[in-house]
Amino acid sequence: MYEERSNTMSYDVTLIPGDGTGPEITEATRRVLEATGIEFHWHVKQAGLAVLEKYGTVLPEDVIQSIRETHVGLKGPITTPVGKGFRSANVALRKSLDLYANLRPARSYKGLRSRYENVDLIIVRENTEDLYAGIEFQRGSPEMDELLEFVRRTTGQKLSHDAAISLKYISVPASRRIATFAFEYARANGRRKVTAVHKANIMKFSDGLFLQVAQEVSKEYPDIQFEDRIVDNMCMQLVQKPEQYDVLVLPNLYGDILSDLSAGLIGGLGVAPGANIGEQYAVFEPVHGSAPKYAGQNKVNPMAMMFSGALMLRHLGEREAAERMERAMAAVIAEGKSVTYDLKPRPDDPTAVGTSQVADAVIAKMRELA
Ligand code: NAD
Repeated sequence: MYEERSNTMSYDVTLIPGDGTGPEITEATRRVLEATGIEFHWHVKQAGLAVLEKYGTVLPEDVIQSIRETHVGLKGPITTPVGKGFRSANVALRKSLDLYANLRPARSYKGLRSRYENVDLIIVRENTEDLYAGIEFQRGSPEMDELLEFVRRTTGQKLSHDAAISLKYISVPASRRIATFAFEYARANGRRKVTAVHKANIMKFSDGLFLQVAQEVSKEYPDIQFEDRIVDNMCMQLVQKPEQYDVLVLPNLYGDILSDLSAGLIGGLGVAPGANIGEQYAVFEPVHGSAPKYAGQNKVNPMAMMFSGALMLRHLGEREAAERMERAMAAVIAEGKSVTYDLKPRPDDPTAVGTSQVADAVIAKMRELA
């Protein structure tokens, strides 16, 4: 995945500013990426609430088409209106491009206010199935009645009609490719251990299958240690001794929850990056959402998106530029001067700087460290 590229070239990247604070953090990140000296040809595409009225969708086809051409996307967060019948643009993007692996590193940096030091976790979350497969049955629908009848016939359980159902779907091929991704990532990045996280003691068939496949895949990687943990125990272990864990591989829902937990371990969503990776395409985005209440205020932290940009550089084979950018960001965080409110001792700290000033500071630091 991360092979080194020797010649300098211009990279075509689809840039999706997104909603809320998305455009501000995207602009800050674009400036920092360009300051690494790597050349980009940005294909700017709009998605989210801003285009909903015009196109009747939060994810117009030209966004997907653009990523099909460039193969790489850098994306700001997109707002999902709650309970109004909209499918999340993020889920739709991951599904239509088959971005099956959600990679979320959580790493301590000196200067981040956290209860922990030395956290260095890689969350590998399956991105296409589980309860997120979008197979749901609405209360009162004829399909729901049919399903309840099927459940009664096959299990003898008479369930209430005053209910709704979401299916937890776990397949062998998806479990195998995510486990393989986790082990390949571990091997390529000098990691020592993969932990599979599940609830196979209760969901013996679905989570049981996930675990069984992970165990099978682990046999192909004798150089990497393998273990498994039940998800509730894993939560406690992460809070008590996160430094004992390395690469975690999880089904979709547990992966979503544990990646926010891990972001909390290192000092918050403002610094937590993410990547959605498939066989052909990859989209890089922060873990956090669009934080709409701060939109247009030049206030929120662009670091999570910048770290996502550094992941993108690695994916493109530009490891040296990625490291330079991360070193500069680490130095800015450690100094604690040119950082946003969320990285200050108190959120109302008057010395907190804005989104674009963080970009200025990171760019200046890259030049200083060069
Ligand atoms: P959120 O992450 O947008 O914000 C929660 C709170 O976290 C904010 O109010 C703010 O206090 C803090 N925060 C988040 N990002 C920050 C940053 N960069 N710097 C400083 N503080 C930051 O979560 P939410 O309010 O639950 O979601 C808002 C919208 O974003 C929803 O519509 C949700 O569906 C969407 N969302 C999108 C994505 C995505 O596009 N990948 C991911 C998560 C949520």
